[in-house]
Amino acid sequence: MTMHNGHQKNGSLLNRSVLVLNTNYTPLTICTARRAICLDYLDKVDVLESYGEEVHSPSVTRHLPSIVKLRDFVNFNSMGVALSRRNILLRDDHNCQYCATKSGPFTIDHIVPKERGGSDAWENLVTACQPCNRTKGNRTPDEANMPLKRHPRKPNRIHYFQQFIKDHQTSWRPYLFLEPF
Ligand SMILES: [Zn+2]
Repeated sequence: MTMHNGHQKNGSLLNRSVLVLNTNYTPLTICTARRAICLDYLDKVDVLESYGEEVHSPSVTRHLPSIVKLRDFVNFNSMGVALSRRNILLRDDHNCQYCATKSGPFTIDHIVPKERGGSDAWENLVTACQPCNRTKGNRTPDEANMPLKRHPRKPNRIHYFQQFIKDHQTSWRPYLFLEPF
């Protein structure tokens, strides 16, 4: 392997997702392996699990971390997920919630239109394709006779993390309550 390839490989590995747990094993966030290794060097975390791959620097070869646990507790009492366009699309699986199409571009629809007092809240915002959004216009789903495919809820953080799991992240599963310990 040439030096150049080695660096490229390191680069993509260092962008791999790492699950960050609080001191009490509560999932807190997801960061890149690059950040996790940095936190490890600073003695801020303990590495609980590693991927099979190794990363190389001029002086050190080490396993790529997969799960790290903070050494100091972070008081992060909101277990919510940030309300954002991206997270609404994730919650709705990039599916129009009126006609179920998976082909975008999508808009974020206010179920009760904003002009009629509808709020910017998880329960009032859904993914909609542009034709549905146009058809519905300034009406409620009842008025437009466009029932929602499912009742929109505020996602919890655990569900949010679960969407990140790929094949190489099976070691995360016990920490996200997908499997018994
Ligand atoms: Zn649609």
